[in-house]
Amino acid sequence: MAKIKDIRYRTPRTNGTRSLSAIKYIARHHSATTSGDFNSFWRTWNERNGWGTGGYHEIILRDGTVELCYDPHEITNGVAGHNTPTYHICVVGNGSFTREQERVFDERCRYNMARLNVPISRVLGHKEFKGASTACPGINMDMVRSQLSGLDVAHASTPNPHTDELDYKKYRYGQTLMKWMGGAAVKRYQQDMNALGYKLTVDGSFGPASEDAAARFQADHGLIRDGIVGVSTQERITDELAKLNAPKPIKKEEKPVTVETRKEPLETHRAAWEWAEAEGLLNGERPADNLSREQYATVLKRQDERFEKMVREIIAKVVFGADRVVSASHRESWEKMIEAGMTNGERPGAALVREQLASILDRAGLIPEKTE
Ligand SMILES: [Zn+2]
Repeated sequence: MAKIKDIRYRTPRTNGTRSLSAIKYIARHHSATTSGDFNSFWRTWNERNGWGTGGYHEIILRDGTVELCYDPHEITNGVAGHNTPTYHICVVGNGSFTREQERVFDERCRYNMARLNVPISRVLGHKEFKGASTACPGINMDMVRSQLSGLDVAHASTPNPHTDELDYKKYRYGQTLMKWMGGAAVKRYQQDMNALGYKLTVDGSFGPASEDAAARFQADHGLIRDGIVGVSTQERITDELAKLNAPKPIKKEEKPVTVETRKEPLETHRAAWEWAEAEGLLNGERPADNLSREQYATVLKRQDERFEKMVREIIAKVVFGADRVVSASHRESWEKMIEAGMTNGERPGAALVREQLASILDRAGLIPEKTE
C-alpha cells in the first residue's frame, strides 16, 4: 500500500468542479524534473503560468510517496483542452522512474480506474491526448497499459482502504476555500458567514476579509486557525448553521406569583371575597394571586384580632349591659330611681352587686336603725 501524504486541505484552487461521472480519462504525466513535489511545481504553475490550480490530482514522489493534491471532482491543469474529463497522475522524474514509483502508479491507477469507472483503454499518456505536443509522460504507455491489464481484475475492484479520499462529500462548498479563490462556492461561504454574524461583503472573491472571518470562526470554535476553509471548518459551519435554524426550545414560562392581574374575583368566590375585604382580612386586590404562607399568617392574625375585639364587645354589651336601653317594663321605676338619686342612670342592664344594693336601700331610708 502506497504511503499517502494528503495535502488537499491546503492546495490552492480556482478552476471549479465537475461531477464524477464527467471523468472519462486517467492521464499519466512525468514532471520532467529529477525531483520535486507540489510546492516546488507550484512556483512554475502559479508564477510562470499564472494558474490558480495545480497541474495534477496526485503526484508520485521520487520515493514512491503519493501526494494527494485534489479530490477527483476538482478540475486541475494537466492537459490543455482535456481537463474537464481527466484525472491526472504525475510521476516525478524525467523519462526514468523507480521500481517503487511504478508499483505505486499501478496501485493508484487501478484504484482510480475502479472508483472513477475508467477502462484501461482510456488510461492515456499526456502526449496521447489530441493536440498535445510533448514528451510527457516519458514512458511507453502500451507497456503501462499492458502492465495494468496483466493483473487480475479482482485486484482492481477490491474495496480500497483509500475510500476516505472521497471525503470531499463532506465539503459544504465542494472544495477547500482559501485566499484569492473566487466563484459561486466563495459566494455561498460569504453568505453563510454573514448568517453566522461574521459580516462579509458577498462578492464571490476570497480576499483578506474572508480569510480573516475564517480565522475568527476557527478561533471561536477551537479549530486550527489558518484562515483556510477546509473540510473541518466547513463541517463546523454546517453545524453552526443547523443550530441557527433549529427551532428554539420552548421555554417554560416562569410565572411569578404576583404577575396575575385579574381585578375581579370569580363569581363563585365573590361573596366570600367581599366579606374578607370588608372584614379587613384582605385588602381586596389581586383576587387570583397565590397566597404565601406569610400572607396567610397575616390573615390569621387579623382574624384573631377581630375575634378578640368581638368578644370584648360582647362582654361589654351582654355581661355588663353597658349600652343597654332600659326595657319598657322597667322604664318608669328606673327613671324614678334616677330622680330620687338612688342610681346614676348608667348601665341599666348591668348586674347589681350586694354592696350596690346596700347603698340604694340606705339612700331610700329603708335600712332600719339598730335598736338597744
Ligand atoms: Zn504531462
